[in-house]
Amino acid sequence: MNRVYLDHNATTPVLPEVLEVMLPYFGGVYGNASSIHHFGQQARSGVERAREQVAAFLNCRPSEVVFTAGGTEADNLAILGSVRAAQASRKHVVTTAIEHHAVLNCCQALEREGVGVTYVPVDASGVVNPEAVAAAIRPETVLVTVMLANNEIGTIQPVAEIARLARERGVLVHTDAVQGAGKVPLDANALGVDLLTISGHKLYAPKGVGALYVRRQTRIQAISFGGHHERDRRAGTENVAGIVGFGKACELAAASLPVEAARLTALRDRLEREVLSRIPESGINGDPLRRVPNTANIRFDYVEGEAMVIALDLKGISCSTGAACSSGAIEPSHVLTAIGLRPDQARSSLRLSLGKQNTDADVDQVLETLPEVVARLRALSPAYHG
Ligand code: PLP
Repeated sequence: MNRVYLDHNATTPVLPEVLEVMLPYFGGVYGNASSIHHFGQQARSGVERAREQVAAFLNCRPSEVVFTAGGTEADNLAILGSVRAAQASRKHVVTTAIEHHAVLNCCQALEREGVGVTYVPVDASGVVNPEAVAAAIRPETVLVTVMLANNEIGTIQPVAEIARLARERGVLVHTDAVQGAGKVPLDANALGVDLLTISGHKLYAPKGVGALYVRRQTRIQAISFGGHHERDRRAGTENVAGIVGFGKACELAAASLPVEAARLTALRDRLEREVLSRIPESGINGDPLRRVPNTANIRFDYVEGEAMVIALDLKGISCSTGAACSSGAIEPSHVLTAIGLRPDQARSSLRLSLGKQNTDADVDQVLETLPEVVARLRALSPAYHG
């Protein structure tokens, strides 16, 4: 059976060029990057070269890049680290209702410690109003954290505008750019944020490596304790091979972005157009224009999303209902309910996220398979009127 992978927002395969630069670090180049001898220095130079590649990708200084064990850890470091570094009197955070759980659950942990958190709602297309974010800022607000692109519906937030309003008010700004990186041009300086998260495995590098951009002179406290790695901001021996691969993936992502973004937009748009024309009572979730090129989130009324995922997988098509970490959750997606969908509509949505290896033939396979799968499941649904 021909297998089609349409879950690139969950994770991406490691590119051959990325694997190639990593391999020596699983073999002869095994030093600890903190050791002062030859082996250590070899590892250190791999890490520092990757730091330069990531910095070029983000348009920042290498010294502003902190390597972490992924996007979740970078989000936690940004949020917990900036709140803990602030004066005791400044204990309030502003975020949105549609953040990834790496941000939302971190904010909830802070609430249990007595920190106030305001969750600003989004409109029907999943966009937050910068003025509403600014209005939520209080004298005691430390941080505004708003994601760049949503992992479920792909909507892009007005982060530059939010950063301008927040920084005018003396508040730090973090953006979780995990789903924007490699899909839209990223420029930490132009965005005007103080903190920015990216993750390796969403841009064709391995899992378990990420980075937090920390603008020069931004005060954050470490959230884990140990050695003096990463200028005392992230303790623990560096994942040298992962970091080297991550650096290479950032370099490749920047080089291929304009062409790849246009190609994926065309593929995604054809997929959506044809699906909507072939399947009645279906609709796009999110903003049709203001979103990353690779993401389609489509609602098929009267069908359970999980049932569609399983039926499609049996036909060789791998996709999801939303965030991979929420798969199997009974609750409808917090993102889809935040944009105003009823719980039954949220439960009847599919996320198809395209990537580098997808072609027109993959889209054709979906178009041949999906209408029949939806029709079959609808026939079994007591709520469907036929
Ligand atoms: N933020 C967003 C928007 C994501 O989509 C993800 C991964 O799904 C993360 C954070 C977490 O990143 P990681 O899987 O590297 O911990």
